[in-house]
Order: sequence, then C-alpha cells, then structure tokens
Amino acid sequence: MSDLNTDVRYIKGIGEKKAQALNKLGVFSLRDLVSFFPRKYEDRSEMKPIALTCDGESVCVEAMVADTPRLTRVRRGLDLVKLRAVDDSGVLDITYFNQPYAKDNLHRGETYVFYGKIEANGPRRSMVNPVAEKADGEHRVTGRIVPVYRVAQGLSQRLMQQAVRQGLDACLNELPDILPHAVRERNQLAQTAYAFENIHFPKDFEALELARRRLIFEELFVLACALGRLRGERARESGIRMAKSDLDRFWAALPFSPTGAQRRAVAEAMSDMDSGAVMNRLVQGDVGSGKTLVAAALIWHCAENGYMSAFMAPTEILADQHYHTLSELLTPLGLRVGKLTGAMTAKEKRVVREQLKAGQLDLVIGTHALFSADVEYEKLGLVVTDEQHRFGVGQRSALIGKGQKPHVLVMSATPIPRTLALIIYGDLDVSVIDELPPGRQKIDTFAVDESYRARLNGFIRKLVGEGRQVFVVCPMVEENDELPQKLKSAEEHAEELQKEFPDLRVACVHGKMKPKDKEAVMASMAAGETDILVATTVIEVGVDVPNAALIIVENAERFGLSQLHQLRGRVGRGQHKSWCILVSDNDGEENRARLNIMTKTNDGFKISEEDLRLRGPGDFFGSRQHGLPEMHVADLGADVNVLQKAQQEATLLLANDPSLAAPEHAALRESVDRLLKVNADSFN
Ligand code: ADP
Ligand code: MG
Repeated sequence: MSDLNTDVRYIKGIGEKKAQALNKLGVFSLRDLVSFFPRKYEDRSEMKPIALTCDGESVCVEAMVADTPRLTRVRRGLDLVKLRAVDDSGVLDITYFNQPYAKDNLHRGETYVFYGKIEANGPRRSMVNPVAEKADGEHRVTGRIVPVYRVAQGLSQRLMQQAVRQGLDACLNELPDILPHAVRERNQLAQTAYAFENIHFPKDFEALELARRRLIFEELFVLACALGRLRGERARESGIRMAKSDLDRFWAALPFSPTGAQRRAVAEAMSDMDSGAVMNRLVQGDVGSGKTLVAAALIWHCAENGYMSAFMAPTEILADQHYHTLSELLTPLGLRVGKLTGAMTAKEKRVVREQLKAGQLDLVIGTHALFSADVEYEKLGLVVTDEQHRFGVGQRSALIGKGQKPHVLVMSATPIPRTLALIIYGDLDVSVIDELPPGRQKIDTFAVDESYRARLNGFIRKLVGEGRQVFVVCPMVEENDELPQKLKSAEEHAEELQKEFPDLRVACVHGKMKPKDKEAVMASMAAGETDILVATTVIEVGVDVPNAALIIVENAERFGLSQLHQLRGRVGRGQHKSWCILVSDNDGEENRARLNIMTKTNDGFKISEEDLRLRGPGDFFGSRQHGLPEMHVADLGADVNVLQKAQQEATLLLANDPSLAAPEHAALRESVDRLLKVNADSFN
C-alpha cells in the first residue's frame, strides 16, 4: 500500500460511506488525506488525580470503573448510563446521555482514561459524556494533544481522526521527501515522516512546532520553485525584439519633465522589450505617482517599432479617462488611439474591431471587451493592464493569448507589502515608482465623528466658495446588511446634501447605475460642472479631477485602510491644498487605531503593512480573488521570514537545475507541477 494517488475508499478501514464524506472535504486520494491538516488541536495531555481537579476544567483522569454501569430509560428519547470511577484520591461520577453503548464498552474493574469537563460540588466530582480509552491500550483521544479537523456531514471528529490515522499508517514510511537533503540540513528541518506524523498526532508541542516548521517551509519552497521556474521559462521565451527609440523626443513632447522614478521604470521596461525575451513587468507605484506616463512612453516606443498596444482598465469610467489622457499625450506624437468598451454600441464596436484587425490603430484602450473572442489584433506588441488586482489574472492571460507573445506591463497602485509582492507577482519583474511628481502637498487627514457635522458642512461651503470641488464617499449598502438604517446610502446622502446646499450642484454616482449614466456624471465632475459628487467606491481607482480638494468618507469604519488610501488619492492631484475627512461614529479602539494611521501617514506602503498587521492576510486579500494560491499550513502574512529563506533556497536550486530535471528532484518537480496545475488561472 503506497501509491499516494490511491482512492481513499480503498484504504483499509475506510469504506464507501466514509469515502463519500471525505470527498465532500476535497479529500479524494491518500495524498489528500494525509495532507488534510488539523484546523486546531485540543490539549488533552494533562492528567490529574480526581481530588485535585477543579470545577469547569477539562482534564484527563485515570480511574477504575468501580461498579457495573447502569442503563436507565428516563423517557422516550432520553437514556442515561451512570457509573462510578475511582482513583487513589477520590470518586468520579460519570453520566452518559443517550449513549447506551457506553454500558457495554466500560467494564467494572478495568481502568480507563476519561477526558471531559469536571463539575465539582463540594468534594464530589462528576463528568458528563467523557471520552474514554483503556489505560493500558493505545492513546488516541486522551492523555495527549488531539487534532481537531474540519468535518463534513457523516463524519465525526473521531471518525476523521481514525481515517487520518489509517491514511498515515498506509503511507507514512513511503512519503517522498520533496526537499533536497542540503536544503533540509541547512534549515534544520524535520524529516517528512516525522512532520506528517506530528502535524496530525503530535507527541508534544515541541514536536508539533517542528512538524509545522518543516511543512510550512516545504509549502513555501514548492511555491517559490514554481514561480521561479515560470519566470525562468518566460525569460527564455523569445518575444518581439524592439529597436531602441529616441526617448528624448517623447519626453520633450510632455508638458512636464518625468521624475527620476518614472525614467527608471521606463528604462527598465524598455530594456526588457529590446532584449528579445518577453517582458513581464509590474510597475508598482502609489496613487498619483504617475504610472500612466510610464505606460504612455512604452506605448510610444512600441508604435515607433510598428507595433500596436492594448491598454486594459478595470471599469468603463477608467477606460474613458485613460482614453482621454492618453489621446492627449499621444495623438500629438502621431499615434492613432481608439477605444473599445462594453458600453459602446454594436456598430461602434465593429468599426474599432475592423481597425484593429487592419492594424489601423496604434493603441486601443478598453475594458473586458478587449479580449472578447471576436477581437483580432494585427501586430499586438504590448499589453498594459491597469490596477491589475481588479482583474482575474485569467483575463489578463486571455488578452495576452491574442498576440504572438506580446510584452506585458502590469500597473498596480495597491501598495502591497514588499514581502507579499514576492508571491503575488512572483512571476513578474518589478519596477517601483517610489517618488511623487514635484510640488505634491501632503493631504491633511482627520478622523471625526457626527458631532463635527455642522463644521464639516461649513468647510464644504468655504471650499466650494473658493471654486474647489468635493467628493463624498458612502459605503455600498448591501440588501442583506444587518444595519442598513445606520449606513448612509449614496443616494440618500446626496439628497440630504442637496437640501443642506440648495444652491450647489450635487450629483450622485453608484455601481448600480447604467455605465452611460455613470460616465455622464463623472464627466460633469471632471468638467467642473458638479460641486459635490456623492459616490460609492466606484471612484476608488484612478479617476482624475485635479480641482477636487476635499474628500469626505462617510462610515469610514466600513473601509479597509488600503481602500481609504486609494480613496484619499482622488484629491491632491492638482496644485490645490487638499483634505481628507474620515467620518465614523464607531469609537471602538480598533477602529480609532486604524483611522489614526490614516491621519499620521500618506505613505501607501506603510499603510498597507499596518492594514495587513491589523487584519491578517486572509482578510487583506480576500484570499483567492487576488490570485494568491491557497496555502495549507503557511500563513502568507505571518511566515514572511520562512518565505524569504524558501525563496533563497529555490533561487539557488533553480540556478543549477532550472527545469528541475535532475532525478533527485523528481518528487519536488511533481509537487511543483501539481501546484501549477491546481492554480493554473492564478499563474498565467
Ligand atoms: P497614477 O500612478 O495614480 O496612475 P497618474 O498617472 O494618474 O498617477 O498621474 C497622476 C497625475 O500626475 C496626473 O495628473 C499626471 O498628469 C501627473 N503627473 C504624472 N507625472 C508627472 C510629472 N513627472 N510631473 C508632474 N506631473 C505629473
Ligand atoms: Mg492610474
């Protein structure tokens, strides 16, 4: 019995029924079973004499059954088994409710270990429904640390524990060691069999820790190898080789000079594009750092080489805005710029599709519509995606599949802590824009509660009087929200503001509106025809209104820190002094602490690190939607040091054996292949 792919139903002791219950948990093979790690552990290792136990504590006692267990039927549906157990120190009264078989399992004169919760009444001690095992038999659920699993209907903890035990017994000594010898030794990691045994049935807490450390390392190491191999393969993949172009001509056409960080990012990307390999590069920069310009330079470079570019934005509004910005920058340089979004009419779309097919455009900007099946490109050389975290990564690859290996530039304003960027973008090269265009002022941020409402309204009045515009953001009100009456919906709040300021132009935009209507409202804001725009987070990303000098976030407790930071980036984009006011009536300590961070710093990276620390990585990324592979033991936020070690080891290993072809890496290669297959859409 050793093939890890064996179906669980053929494992000794697991029948058809249990197998079906296991399948519900995603456990199909022997490998799945032994890799189904406990959710937590219960420490049942403490053993006490009866007389020393205290009321309410859960504990093990070793005691002899002193009389024959008595079964009484109190009424229909209520059976009691009562018995008395003794040790040298005292007496324990035991009652089982509705477990008539306890009568036959426990025998007078024999000694058992009972685990349960003590009830103490003066000198008397009792337990209800304790688990029991013969004192001289094998201890699986008493006297030790016991695993607690996620279970499905038809499986009790006990059955689950048994199933895993049987699984381990079937393969423990034949589990392959995925880690190369040297790696294991250098990092002082436990052996495979030891790790699997002790992650399930730890001898003690030290053994559990050793097991965990080994398995976390292994998991992250496999991930690092997978990403490293992907990156290596791409680097060897030949792409369109572009000829150098005279960037100074491009810079000279701008209304301002590029920052050093922008120049650097462009140079790095251009050297990728000119290298003959395919570019896969992430440009990461805080809101307002000027990523669009970097994209524009590369699009121009591409056009100089006779290739077209596609620029993908996550929303209609952003596609529209990028269309305007990029047209303004690039048409004077002779580029032909088009747009393709879902909101366009069928006829408009057809025209653009024909232009694309005929190679009559140098740049097309759009949404998902860019990669629908009926769009064909002539000479697609570059794909740019903006705010990549909003796209399924699979969508990105759909567009990439359209050219012959076009270069890929991903732009993200999500200031992901650097350590995590390593994983999420592990298959990309990274340029960081760590410098804002000159003359930017700090956005003063305040956290206030309702008692400031009148002053806040006074402030709006004053700023609009000076010719500025104001954003007000309300949380999305879901229909199933428990407390909708306490949340301000954008529409209601807009009405209130209109009453408060009858002479001002108040507008409202939210996600449920038709794209055309949304665009009209945004356009009026951008044109300065709206004084106060009340919005849901549809404005979170990218929208540019340089005249806006104040953003107010209502129910700020409902937003994540990184989201607040993105929102704040909607102001301070012009020459005007700008403010961000976070309104929240929640004075929970945690909320205050969070909002305080916003008032103290404008640095997106710092904020995201705090956000991660406060919320944990699961919440931070909503796990899989960000393309993070699912981890079994490792915690991507907490195990950062291990991650770095694993990454180093993977780099070292791949340098010598880039495709893991060596026979001694066979088991590792298999694991890497499996990971890539399971996460196929994340890594493309
Ligand atoms: P983001 O990185 O958030 O996408 P944008 O590309 O939208 O930032 O740029 C933000 C604003 O800064 C835009 O109005 C843009 O015109 C301006 N900008 C970009 N680069 C520079 C620069 N080097 N000097 C001055 N202004 C710049
Ligand atoms: Mg942008």
